[in-house]
Amino acid sequence: MMGGLVSKLQSQQKIYDLFVVGGGINGCGIARDAAGRGMSVALAEMNDLASATSSASTKLFHGGLRYLEYFEINLVRHALTEREVLLRAMPHISWPMRFVLPYHKDMRFEGSTPTSRILNTLMPWMKGRRPAWLIRFGLMLYDNLGGRKILPATKTLNLKNSVEGAPLEDRFEKAYEYSDCWIEDSRLVVLNARDAEARGADILVRTKVISAARVDDVWEVTVEDVASGDQRVLSARMLVNAGGPWVGDIIQQKVRINSTEGVRLVRGSHIVTRRLYDHDKCYFFQGTDGRIIFAIPYETDFTLIGTTDAEHSDPGTKPECTPEERDYLLNFINQYLKADISAEDVVWTYSGVRPLYDDGASSATAATRDYTLKVDSTGGAPILNVFGGKITTYRKLAEDAMEKIVPFFPGTLGHWTAGVALPGGDFAVDGFDALVARLNEDYPFLSPFWARRLVRAYGTESWSVLGDAAQQADLGQTFGATLTEREVTWLIDHEYARSAEDIVWRRNKLGLRLEKEEIAELERFVQSETAVNNAQAAG
Ligand SMILES: Cc1cc2nc3c(=O)[nH]c(=O)nc-3n(C[C@H](O)[C@H](O)[C@H](O)COP(=O)(O)OP(=O)(O)OC[C@H]3O[C@@H](n4cnc5c(N)ncnc54)[C@H](O)[C@@H]3O)c2cc1C
Repeated sequence: MMGGLVSKLQSQQKIYDLFVVGGGINGCGIARDAAGRGMSVALAEMNDLASATSSASTKLFHGGLRYLEYFEINLVRHALTEREVLLRAMPHISWPMRFVLPYHKDMRFEGSTPTSRILNTLMPWMKGRRPAWLIRFGLMLYDNLGGRKILPATKTLNLKNSVEGAPLEDRFEKAYEYSDCWIEDSRLVVLNARDAEARGADILVRTKVISAARVDDVWEVTVEDVASGDQRVLSARMLVNAGGPWVGDIIQQKVRINSTEGVRLVRGSHIVTRRLYDHDKCYFFQGTDGRIIFAIPYETDFTLIGTTDAEHSDPGTKPECTPEERDYLLNFINQYLKADISAEDVVWTYSGVRPLYDDGASSATAATRDYTLKVDSTGGAPILNVFGGKITTYRKLAEDAMEKIVPFFPGTLGHWTAGVALPGGDFAVDGFDALVARLNEDYPFLSPFWARRLVRAYGTESWSVLGDAAQQADLGQTFGATLTEREVTWLIDHEYARSAEDIVWRRNKLGLRLEKEEIAELERFVQSETAVNNAQAAG
C-alpha cells in the first residue's frame, strides 16, 4: 500500500502514481494503459519518442515464424493472437501482408535450435535441412495457434510463371505463402503517447532522468531538460523502468538498486533500396547460415531488407549498419534474386539495439524475444523493470505490467485496451481505401500519393491536419514531397516533434524523398516555430 510519510517539499507538489522512464513502445504503451485506468502518470523520454529501438524494427506485427524452431510456443501464440487485436485498433498504421517463403531442398536451418537437435537424432542424413512437410507443419501451426478472422491462411505457390516467382532465381520452383501484418513502428509509439496524454498523462520529451531516489514511500526523480540543462525534481509513488537498451544503465546508474537481472544488447540493421520487384508481397528468405531475412515492399517506391544479429556492447554507442552488415544483407538477397544488387543500390540504412532479457542463450539469434517484468519494492517505493519484448506484444506487455502495478494501487480499474482505437484509427479494418476516397473528395487538390500518405499516417485525423484548406496554397509553405507548413505545425503542436529529423524519419519517412537542402529548410522552420512556442509558454 502506498502513501504514508512524504517530505514537506513533496507534499507541496503533485505526486504522480506512476513515473515511466523511456518513451519507446513499452514506456508509451504502459503510460497509456495506466492513464486509461485513472492513474496519474508522467513519462520522460530523453530524446524524441521512439528515437531508439522502437523506430528501428522490421516493422512487423508477427508471431515470429522462426521462434517455432525454438519451441517458443507461448510467445508465438500470444503474438499471433495479438496481430488482429492490434490491426482492428489501428487500421491506418497497420495492415495485413502476405509473406512468400521460397522452398529449396538444400536450404540450411540454424543448427543449434531444439528442432535441429531432434532432427539430427531422428533424420541425421538431412544435415540441417528441413523436409518440406515439416515447414508445411510449422505453417499449419502458425495459421492455427493464435486464431485468425481477418488474415488469410497459408497456401502453396507455384513459382514458375507467377508474379511472385518472376524476381527469383530459376532454381526456386515452389513457395509457401502465409500472413502477418505491417506496423509503422514509430507512429505506433507517438499515437500511444498521444492517447496517454488525452487520458491525463504528462508526456515529457527531451527530458532525461538523471537520478531517482526513494524517500520513504515516494520516488524523487531528478529530470533534466536536455535543451536548457535545467533540472527539477518530480515525485511518484512507483517507477517504471522502460529504458529499453538502457534498462540496466537505469538500474545501476540512475536508481542504484541491487538487481541480478541483465539485458543482452543485440544490434540489428536494415538496408533500403529502390523497389526491387513489382508486387506487394514480402519475401522470407532462409540463408545458408540458418538465419532468415525479410525483403519487404516499403514506402511505395522502395524495398526494405533486414535484419542482422550482432552483439552490441554499450547502449550509449549509436547503432549503425556497418559495411559488413550491409554486405551480408546484399549477399543474402543476391542468393535469391535474379537482379544482382550492390552497395550503390542502397539508399538508406538504419540500425537498432534489441534489449533482450539475458536468458544465457549462446547466440544472439537464439536469445529469447519474450519479455520479463520484475518488481523491486524491498527498499520502499516500488520499481518495475521491463526487459525485452516485441513491438507486437507491447499491449500485452502493458497489461501484464499493470498486473504487477495495481496491487500497489487498490481500486484501480481493469484491462481496457483490447480493440480500443488509437488516435485516427476509428474506422473499419478494411476501410482504408474508402477513407482515402473521402479525403480526396473533401480535398480534391491532393494527389493520390499525398492522400494515401495522410490517411496512412493520420487516419480519420487527416481532416484535423488539413483543416479548412480549399486549395494547396492554404496549407502554407511547402517543404517538398507533399509536406506542408500546416502538417508540420500540427506535428509540433500535437505529436511532440522538435526537429526536422523527428518529422522526416519518425513521424513519416519523407527523408527518403527529400533533398538535404529541403530538410535543412524544414529544420529552420521547426526551430523558429518551437522558439515562438517556448517564448509564449514562458511569457
Ligand atoms: C533490428 C530489430 C528488428 C525488430 N523487429 C521487430 C519486428 O518486426 N516486430 C516486433 O514485434 N518487434 C521487433 N523488434 C523488437 C522491438 O523493436 C523492441 O523490442 C521494442 O522496440 C523495444 O521497445 P522499448 O520501449 O523497450 O525500447 P526503446 O524503443 O529503445 O525505448 C527506450 C527509451 O528509453 C529512453 N531512455 C533511456 N534512458 C533514459 C533516461 N535516463 N531518461 C529518459 N529516457 C531514457 C531511450 O531514449 C529510448 O527512447 C525488433 C528490434 C530490432 C532491434
